[in-house]
Amino acid sequence: MSQPTARNPRYDVLFEPLAIGPKLAKNRFFQVPHASGMTNAAPHVRAAFRAMKAEGGWGVISTGACSVHPSSDDSPFPAATLWDEADIRAHALMTDAVHAHGALAGVELWHGGAVTMNRTTRLASLSPSGVPWMAGHPGFMSSARPRVMDSSDIRDLIRWHAEAAVRAEQAGFDILYVYAGMGYLPYQFLLSDYNKRTDAYGGSARNRARLLIELIDAVREATHGRQAVALRISLQELRARPSDTAESEAHEVISLLADAPDLFDVKMDYSSTDCSVSRYSSEGSHEAVISFVKQLTDKPVVGVGRFTSPDTMVSMLRRGVLDFIGGARPSIADPFLPEKIRTGREDEIRECIGCNLCISSWHDGVWVRCTQNPTAGEEWRRGWHPEKVPVTAPAIQGEAENVLVIGGGPSGMEAALTLGRRGYRVTLADQAREFGGRLRFESRLPGLSAWNRVTEYRLGRLSQMPNVSLFPESPMQAADVLEFGAQHVVVATGARWLPVTCGMNELPAGRVDGPRVYTPDDLAAGARPEGPVAVFDYDNYYMGSAIAEMLADQGHAVTYITNSGAAAAWGIMTNEQPLVHQSFARREIAYRTLEVVTGFDGETLTLAQTFSGAKSRVAARSLVITGLREGGSALHEALAVSDLAAAGVRSLHLTGDANAPGAIAHATYQGHRTARELGLEAHQINVGRDAPFAPRDFLAEAAE
Ligand code: ADP
Ligand code: SF4
Repeated sequence: MSQPTARNPRYDVLFEPLAIGPKLAKNRFFQVPHASGMTNAAPHVRAAFRAMKAEGGWGVISTGACSVHPSSDDSPFPAATLWDEADIRAHALMTDAVHAHGALAGVELWHGGAVTMNRTTRLASLSPSGVPWMAGHPGFMSSARPRVMDSSDIRDLIRWHAEAAVRAEQAGFDILYVYAGMGYLPYQFLLSDYNKRTDAYGGSARNRARLLIELIDAVREATHGRQAVALRISLQELRARPSDTAESEAHEVISLLADAPDLFDVKMDYSSTDCSVSRYSSEGSHEAVISFVKQLTDKPVVGVGRFTSPDTMVSMLRRGVLDFIGGARPSIADPFLPEKIRTGREDEIRECIGCNLCISSWHDGVWVRCTQNPTAGEEWRRGWHPEKVPVTAPAIQGEAENVLVIGGGPSGMEAALTLGRRGYRVTLADQAREFGGRLRFESRLPGLSAWNRVTEYRLGRLSQMPNVSLFPESPMQAADVLEFGAQHVVVATGARWLPVTCGMNELPAGRVDGPRVYTPDDLAAGARPEGPVAVFDYDNYYMGSAIAEMLADQGHAVTYITNSGAAAAWGIMTNEQPLVHQSFARREIAYRTLEVVTGFDGETLTLAQTFSGAKSRVAARSLVITGLREGGSALHEALAVSDLAAAGVRSLHLTGDANAPGAIAHATYQGHRTARELGLEAHQINVGRDAPFAPRDFLAEAAE
C-alpha cells in the first residue's frame, strides 16, 4: 500500500458515525448481506472473507442469508444456518474478527418459504397461500409445491425468528435482520400475487404487513432491545402497484412500518434488477424505486447500486436518498474501498466491473470469486491479502531478481503487479500498442466499457511502481526472451477463438470453411462482416450475444443461433440472460435456439435441430462463430525446449488464457497465483483446508 495522504474534505460526510437503534456505526460504509457461497462448512474461510472488509474500513459487515429453521433449506445453493450451538460457534468466528476492526456485525435472518425446495431437509416448503415462487422458472424449481401455512405455522415462524435472534446475539451479532425481499417468505406475505389469505395476514396492505411487524417485534423482544433490528425489503413490485391511500403500495407499506425497525435496507425484487450486470445498468440504478423511503421514515436507510465513486456516494447522502452506502459487489472487488477514500487514495480503488462472476459462484455452489480481486475467497485458504503482498523477491548481487512477463492482458498485468509488489524487478512486454489484451476489444462491445477497469486499475498501479517497466509494441520471440537476461519468464499470451462449429447432442464438429466466416479475434483485428450476419454461439456466455448487439448497432440484420435453449444460456449464472433477451427484442435481433450450424456457402446457412436433426436454412452473407477457445503458446513451447539455464532463466511459467482459457476472472486468478507462487518450493505453499464445527452427536448421546 502506498503512503496515506490527506482525505478530501468533500468526503468527510462518509465518515460521520450514525446510530442504528442501540448501536453506533463508525461510518457510512455498510456491507449489506450478500451471498458468498460460504456456508457453516467453511467457518474460517467465511470469517476471514468478511473480516477483510472490516479491516478495509467498512463500518458494518453482514452475513449472507442465514436460515432460521430447517424448513428454509436452499440446497443445492449454499446458505448459512443458525440452527444450533455448532452454528453459533461458526458465526462467532466472524463476529469476533469483525469486531476486532471496530465494525458492527449484521446477520440476515432468513426464511425462504416457497423459494426453497428443502431438498436436503425434505420438509414441506411453506407459503402464505400455496402459490409457488417462480412457477415459470424450471431451472430453480422442483416438482414440489409449497403448502399453505395455518395460524400455528405463523406462530412457529415468529418463534423460529425469535429463537434464531437469541442464537445470533450469542454469536455476537449487533444488527439482526428480518428479510422480506427477493421472493422469500415475508415478502410473499407482502405481495397480493402470493398472498390470497382471508385471515388477519391477508387482504389489505395493513394485514399483509402484519407478519413483518410481528417478526420485527419478536426479534427485538427476544434480545431485549440490546441489538439493532433491520428490515430488508424489496420494493420494485410494490412500487408498481396502485394504492387507494398512498402513491403506491410501497408507500403504504413503508408508512405502516415506518417506526418498526431500527434500519431499512431497501432493494429491488429480482436478481437481474437487484444485482444487475453493468452491461445493462449503471451505478445507482435502484434510486428511482427506493428514493422515496427516507421521506416516510426517520429511521436510517441503506441501499445499494454498485457504488464505487465517492462523489456518487456523497451525492446519495446529500440528496437524502440514503443514510448508509450499501455495498456488496464493490466490497468484494475492493475490501479496502473505505480506507482508500479515508486516506485520500481514491485513485487506488479497484472498482467492481459489474460482470457478476461473483454471483455465478453462488449459483455454482462455491466460495465467491471475483474478476477484479483474485484474493476474494482465498484470504484464509491461501492467506492472500488484497493489499499486502509479502516482499520476498530474492536478490542477486544486491539487486532483486528480474522477471519478464510476456503478454499484457488481464493475467499478465495481474502477474506483473503482484510480482512488482513482491519486490521483483518486472518487465511487462506486449506486442500491441496498448495493454489490456482481450479487453482492448471486449470493453468496446456494447455495455462493456466498465470492464476496462480491469486494465485501468492495473496499469494505474503498475505505472507508479519504480521496479516495473512497461514495454508496449514489443513482440517477443524465443530468441528475444533468451537474450533478455531475466531470471524468471512468465508467458501470458492469451487464447484464440476457433472457427469450428459444434455437433448435435454433445459431439464436437469440424471447421467451417465458407467465405466470410469470422471469429471474435477476426472482428477484434478489424474485420467488417457483410450483412445480413448470422452469429452462431455455443460459447453461451456474453461474447456471442455482445457481438450480435454490436453488429445490430452497426446497422446489420442479425440472426443469433445457439445450440442452447436460450440466448447467452450461461448468463443465467450472472443474472444477465433475461436482459440479453430484452436487448435482442429492442435491437430487433432474431434468434433461434437448439440448433447447430452444419454448413455455410456464403449465402445460406444450413442448420440442424440439436436433438432431432431436423434441417432448416437461414440467409446470411457472413457467419461469426463464438464457440471454442484454444490456449497454448508457441512461444512457451519453444522456450520449454531451449537451453534456459544457459540463458540464466531459472523458471518458466505459462499462465492465464494461454494456460487454460476461461473468463477474465480465471485469467486474473491464474496470473495472481503464478506471481504469488513464483520461486517458492512446494512445501512453502500452504493451502488450508477448512472444516465445520461438529454438531451434537445424538446417536452417541442416545447410546450412553
Ligand atoms: P489473458 O486473458 O490470459 O491475460 P489476453 O488474450 O487478454 O490473455 O492477453 C494476451 C496478450 O498477449 C495480448 O495483449 C497479446 O497482444 C499479447 N501477446 C501474445 N503473443 C505475444 C508475443 N509473442 N509477444 C508479446 N505479446 C504477445
Ligand atoms: Fe464486481 Fe465482477 Fe468482482 Fe463481482 S466478480 S465484485 S461484479 S468485479
